Amino acid sequence: MHRIVLLIIVLFISNEMVYGQKIAFEQDPERNVTSTYEELIDFYKKIARRDGRAKLMEVGQTDVGKPLHLLVLSADRDFDPKDIKAKGKAVMLINNGIHPGEPEGIDASMMFVRDLLLGNKLPADVVICVVPVYNVSGMLDRGTSRANQNGPVSYGFRGSRQHYDLNRDFIKSDTRNAKLFQHVFHTWDPDIFFDTHTSNGADYQYVMTLIATHPDKLSSPLSDFMQEKFTAPLYKRMEKSGIPMIPYVNTKEETPESGLVAFLETPRYSTGYAALHHTIGYMPETHMWKPYEQRVKAMYVLLNHLLAITAEEHKALVQIRRLTREAAQKQEIFPLSWKLDTDSVDTLSFLGYRAGRKASNISGAQRLFYDRQKPTAIQIPYYHHYKPDVRVKKPVAYVIPQAYDDVIALLRLNGVQMRALERDTVLEVETYYIEAYQTSRQPYEGHYLHDNVRTRSVVGGMAFYAGDWIVETDQQAVRYIIETLEPAATDSFFNWNFFDAILSQKEYFAPYIFEEEAERLLKEHPGWRDELEHEKQRDEQLRQNGRLQLDWIYKKSAYYEKGHLRYPVARLLKSP
Ligand SMILES: [Zn+2]
Repeated sequence: MHRIVLLIIVLFISNEMVYGQKIAFEQDPERNVTSTYEELIDFYKKIARRDGRAKLMEVGQTDVGKPLHLLVLSADRDFDPKDIKAKGKAVMLINNGIHPGEPEGIDASMMFVRDLLLGNKLPADVVICVVPVYNVSGMLDRGTSRANQNGPVSYGFRGSRQHYDLNRDFIKSDTRNAKLFQHVFHTWDPDIFFDTHTSNGADYQYVMTLIATHPDKLSSPLSDFMQEKFTAPLYKRMEKSGIPMIPYVNTKEETPESGLVAFLETPRYSTGYAALHHTIGYMPETHMWKPYEQRVKAMYVLLNHLLAITAEEHKALVQIRRLTREAAQKQEIFPLSWKLDTDSVDTLSFLGYRAGRKASNISGAQRLFYDRQKPTAIQIPYYHHYKPDVRVKKPVAYVIPQAYDDVIALLRLNGVQMRALERDTVLEVETYYIEAYQTSRQPYEGHYLHDNVRTRSVVGGMAFYAGDWIVETDQQAVRYIIETLEPAATDSFFNWNFFDAILSQKEYFAPYIFEEEAERLLKEHPGWRDELEHEKQRDEQLRQNGRLQLDWIYKKSAYYEKGHLRYPVARLLKSP
């Protein structure tokens, strides 16, 4: 008898210790502390040990040797992603600490998970996946690296172990973390993705701002569904909870009065990447200068609203995602880049602070300041429509030389189906020649990024080898395939330097030797001389420069290599 009572008491106490466990944030009277890495992982380990509805997994080793963890909450204790999908449940993925100096989501998720389990509020039809911290090495590198942020007292650092910003790494995937994330993403195939951040920039009254996957970039019908059933209700419910939100404050000019421009998250960013796989993505950004307590609370409340909506809408959400995938698979024309439509402008009610100028005490020069004693409620322009810029008709398939191991590995990681050519063969394909491109002068995230790519197409027979890869476009991952393999796409593999070797010539000519040969070639091809004369009339530089004229002849001749500037991924226009 005594033993049973004792056992009950022990169980009660241990439950209290786990569920009632207050996180570091709650233990601090100022609510100005965020958990350390050890506290964070220990917290989830305890929860998973005691509650069968929670499972903590190690996905693989991050760039600092410590594992990437994933906590999964499943009301019926089923943790098999295939089963979960077969049951028609929705999956919500929460990613924290991609920028560990922005830790609200880390703390809010701990309380969110604990309170769902403790209060028995886990919805039956939503499986919740939580990445406790994504940039593990950044979280370990604790300090005070955010000068423009109001607490907590110390926190992790933005950069990864190799000083990458992981929220630019979803396509180029330079880090182990990015590859692990993509594995998680394709294992769990989230319907909703939530990536937690803290803002920088202007001052205003809102605690919470929101980047929603840009509707113009999300495929139909998911795009309208997201707007109507998720984004609009989220704004309403947050307002009702006393935490009104505003779209992420990306100002047209220096201050919000100039208007807000909707943030266009291209695929290098987390939610832009999610959009390629038809996942609704939100990037909540709390305002950096509000007290940490308010920021964590806002994140917690937003998480709860998003979960409630996901539970209410799970059936329609799962179905509409399926329809969207099917529609995209059959789509023929794909946008590759987007441009802000400055002709299309709406107005937004905005709660700001009066911005002004005064003399700097440091330099004496005029400086910007926001007067917190003068809150404003004004109407401001809101530019939030993006028009597709470059578009492309999808080929039947892409053919990728097997030599490009990194490209193949990333396609596989993203669920792309492909088959190897069985024998050496010549295929009739369209190939691109890179006609023009620009390259950043400064390295950006470990790369000299290209943009403004212009191509010229050539159709003809091209030799491929057994083991080269055919990637058909009639498949689920078509948007990922097109936006990475088409060189003109904003975040294409080409732009991220995966194919840079084609941009430099391998053989050249010595002018003093080539002179005679050039003369012979002009005799052999009388048309060339006229053509050269014509070009010289047109092009001053060519007219003045003998070396350039030899180069012109060289490039017309059989000596000039075919692979120079030829983009190696070919487009198959007809089924072979
Ligand atoms: Zn951030």
